[in-house]
Amino acid sequence: SIAHAADRALVIEEELDHALQNDEFELYYQPEVSADGKRLLGVEALIRWQHSKRGLLGPDEFIPIAEGLHLIQPIGQWVLDNALAQVPGWRQIGWKDARVSVNLSSNQFRAPGFTDAVLRSLARLGLTGDCLELEVTERMLMGDDAAMLASLSALRQAGITLAIDDFGTGFSSLSRLRTLPIEKLKIDQSFILELPNSLSSVAIVNSILELAQGLSLTAVAEGVETKEQRQCLESLGCRAMQGFLFAHPMPAAAF
Ligand code: C2E
Ligand code: MG
Ligand code: MG
Repeated sequence: SIAHAADRALVIEEELDHALQNDEFELYYQPEVSADGKRLLGVEALIRWQHSKRGLLGPDEFIPIAEGLHLIQPIGQWVLDNALAQVPGWRQIGWKDARVSVNLSSNQFRAPGFTDAVLRSLARLGLTGDCLELEVTERMLMGDDAAMLASLSALRQAGITLAIDDFGTGFSSLSRLRTLPIEKLKIDQSFILELPNSLSSVAIVNSILELAQGLSLTAVAEGVETKEQRQCLESLGCRAMQGFLFAHPMPAAAF
């Protein structure tokens, strides 16, 4: 019920602060692979909350609540620092061009000083921008906010890859895609889910792939679960994929 949901949100709100102090968050990692599943192209960090009473909670259960409070900044910073901290180890064991992808929240991205905080996190670990990808949504890119545009180009300048997550679900102006320093589109899983039988989904995915190619952007299909979806994507020319077919998100040690 709505009342129950509101109660739960209130409890979670009180507990989030405590969770940060007590180290209850954990990052899971899901690989992004080549269409044949053989090459590791990158990895996405996905937050989990190991709650003492409720067990493992997914981001949808607490990120929107954290975002409403001002807790999204410290949580976002925690995610960034912990994801980046994995990179040196991966490089040491032979993944030479290891790159980790981090999801951003709107309020985190818009906060003054966000770009500097990212650059400082990299510098603390002696890393350069090529080991980091930041995922934003179409909604976060709307408007002509000069600060936002400056932030994007500073991140890009530092060699960080900028990706649009859940692409196709917002209403991006296609002409703006050309002017923003975006390099990658992650095709929303809702379209992948309906492949290969839904003609409209095939048409949408095909259009996004053509758009990406025309603008020299990388395209990644999200939420690939079946061989049929993989095959269909491959036949449409999609070269990078992520999804349960290849691997579920998993703790750092398992990854
Ligand atoms: P997202 O970035 O689009 O991540 C993809 C979501 O789909 C993840 O859910 C992932 O576990 C799930 N997924 C991956 N492959 C498959 C598949 O084959 N089938 C299906 N059905 N699902 C698949 P998760 O981990 O629950 O994350 C949900 C959303 O929460 C993410 O969507 C992202 O927007 C947000 N999120 C995750 N971690 C963070 C974080 O550290 N910070 C912020 N601000 N948001 C985060
Ligand atoms: Mg993502
Ligand atoms: Mg997504």
